[in-house]
Amino acid sequence: MKNSIPKVIAIDGHSSTGKSSLAKKLAKALGYIHIDTGAMYRAITLFAIQNDWIDDNGELNVEELIAGLKKINLNFIENPSTQENEITLNGCNVENGIRSMEVSSHVSEVAKVSEVREMLVQIQRNLAQETGIVMDGRDIGTVVFPDALVKIFLTASAEVRAKRRFDELTKKGVTISLEEVQKNVNERDFIDSHRANSPLKAAKDAVIINNDKLNREETFDAVMEVVKQKLLDV
Ligand code: C5P
Repeated sequence: MKNSIPKVIAIDGHSSTGKSSLAKKLAKALGYIHIDTGAMYRAITLFAIQNDWIDDNGELNVEELIAGLKKINLNFIENPSTQENEITLNGCNVENGIRSMEVSSHVSEVAKVSEVREMLVQIQRNLAQETGIVMDGRDIGTVVFPDALVKIFLTASAEVRAKRRFDELTKKGVTISLEEVQKNVNERDFIDSHRANSPLKAAKDAVIINNDKLNREETFDAVMEVVKQKLLDV
């Protein structure tokens, strides 16, 4: 054994590449827990919206946000019918509320704030102390777990990702144009990859997978191949 427990599988990459669905499926297949770190940044954004720390022009009051972080308690609970982790914000399940376009359009500004990142990285590291974990996000392989056993970086063209997100939202009954979704994808890509603190980028030792032409199953199979190889090596 070259690696000690816990075994961490880091799934990073651009938005709407299917990171979370892939991470969930991988965790189930391996008997690991799954943590969606995007859900944590989204939950803080929801709290900021609820507390009016974002004004009508979309300006985030960073000072109020930082001062209010101590009022935020995040947890994950297992949904007994799906066996999947869902996020709670101060005891309330907010798994659905955090997926709104309103949250999507402010989350990258919230995620730029160093104090927010420090708080969440600490929680994320604590979550991995006991067991095997599949964690998906933007900085898992670069910052949260630079020694992760497996690092995958998922990407796809902005157009393909926007179309996927658009299909997902319209299926849920959300009325939105493809242009609006494309704009949000582009804005998040830009802010996430240009921020000073933990910008979105592939770790040097990550396996980069472009899934423009791969469906969910094919993406899962490609990642599973990498995981099996790494697990055999340890
Ligand atoms: O993964 P998801 O698209 O739900 O993430 C929402 C946003 O949260 C990202 O666009 C990014 O701004 C932020 N995020 C982050 N670091 C992570 C996970 C998410 O900055 N590890």
